Amino acid sequence: MWFRADLRIDDNPAFHHAMTAGPTIAIYALNPKTWQAHHLSTAKISLIVRQLFTLEKSLRKLNVPLFVINTREFKQVPRALQKFIAEKKVTSLYFNHEFEINERQLSRAVQQRLIPNTEIQSFNDQCAIAPGKITTATGDWYKVFTPFKRRYLADFHAQGRRLYTCPKPQAPLAENSDIRALSQFEIAGQWQKLWPAGEQIAHQRLTRFANDTIKDYARLRDFPSEPATSTLSPYLAIGALSTRQCLEAAIAMGGLEAASPANEGAATWVSELIWRDFYRHLIYAFPDLCKHRAFQANTEALPWRHDTALLDAWQQGRTGYPIVDAAMKQLMATGWMHNRLRMITAMFLTKHLFVDWRLGEDFFMRNLVDGDLASNNGGWQWSASTGVDAAPYFRIFNPARQSERFDPDGRFIKTHLPELQALTGKHIHNPTPAQADACGYARAIVEHQEAVAQTKAWFKAVK
Ligand code: FAD
Repeated sequence: MWFRADLRIDDNPAFHHAMTAGPTIAIYALNPKTWQAHHLSTAKISLIVRQLFTLEKSLRKLNVPLFVINTREFKQVPRALQKFIAEKKVTSLYFNHEFEINERQLSRAVQQRLIPNTEIQSFNDQCAIAPGKITTATGDWYKVFTPFKRRYLADFHAQGRRLYTCPKPQAPLAENSDIRALSQFEIAGQWQKLWPAGEQIAHQRLTRFANDTIKDYARLRDFPSEPATSTLSPYLAIGALSTRQCLEAAIAMGGLEAASPANEGAATWVSELIWRDFYRHLIYAFPDLCKHRAFQANTEALPWRHDTALLDAWQQGRTGYPIVDAAMKQLMATGWMHNRLRMITAMFLTKHLFVDWRLGEDFFMRNLVDGDLASNNGGWQWSASTGVDAAPYFRIFNPARQSERFDPDGRFIKTHLPELQALTGKHIHNPTPAQADACGYARAIVEHQEAVAQTKAWFKAVK
């Protein structure tokens, strides 16, 4: 079993089938050079490495040894797997697919190198319905979310739901795990506390969310000071948890039943999980998205500003717009940012500062614990109005209005910008220059109306 972004033993199709087929050993290839090239954050790397330690323990209980090898980069993986397979006299390789362009190339390269000597068994794990399985009546890819979701839910019912059971322990093998390659990573520190690793932890969080929080999700999910969302994205990103498991938990709370006030929260959460799959289907259908190309080709002509001072101010939370700055501080402190704030900060960078969305996408990836190419690219291109089913370019969030609406008493802002503690009422959302100076806080870096008018004109020009 070749583990990739599916670091769990429960509901893991490839692992389930490998264990059903016969005695199994597990391998994980560490690729720090590729992680660097893909701009993985230290938070995410820390979570992956710690998850591998817990995975080894879980596998040991099933008498499955885990071998972690240091291949350094994707390019080396096919040869290393071939060598490993020959040494261990393996007959079949089981793995789950990944849909990013480099990951798909890697799957192909592994298959080419190993066939015909090794049987390959590969599975869809990452999406509840595999990319390519949902197309319009004319066989096209869906480019609008709502009809995609309608079709997705119909197919989801039709295909029958299935979770892959956790395999029973196999008879002990002669070999023991070897995970010494993990010792090159520093794992103690802040990330361990904030994002503890383990399949069990992920399940506990899912169960707690489904039992206690999901019912109010539709009502509270947009308020960043409320603990109203699941914060499961880091666990989904590394595969400590599957989308199917999340969907099952939501379904148990009525997430697929006809809409009613009682199940509104679960139904809304199901929608968000489907957004995740939608973006995965899109990168599969349009691999250029993985190369940071805009989906709407005309927007490639936008004269984005490449202004380091503006970008630095946004990254460091010094724009003078409290909701934007507090959000950026949350990202830097925790490796995570609330969804509403991801939209606000992304729109601010692209529509107020008019900085290229790719620079924001890159910064998020380098700092998010849940950094995920498909969802990050999808979110950025939605906010920048360059993507599939994106926000219309003329509908630009006013940060102060967003702040008044979703952080009315400034509780979230004050948590991350304690220097604004003294501000009350509407001033917390939009301090005057004198108030900003008095608090030792940045003055607004751009004027809202002016910035927005200019951006609309630029978009209009490339329409
Ligand atoms: P919940 O609200 O509990 O939702 C449950 C799960 O559904 C999430 O864990 C996530 O897997 C999925 N989900 C929810 N909202 C979305 C969405 N809008 N798009 C895709 N999937 C969604 N999500 C990532 O996982 N990784 C990223 O790198 C990422 N970058 C983003 C960048 C921008 C600019 C934007 C606007 C959104 C981005 N998102 C990303 C989507 C979303 O913000 C996060 O998934 C969500 O905030 C995670 O918090 P949660 O687990 O509490 O979500």
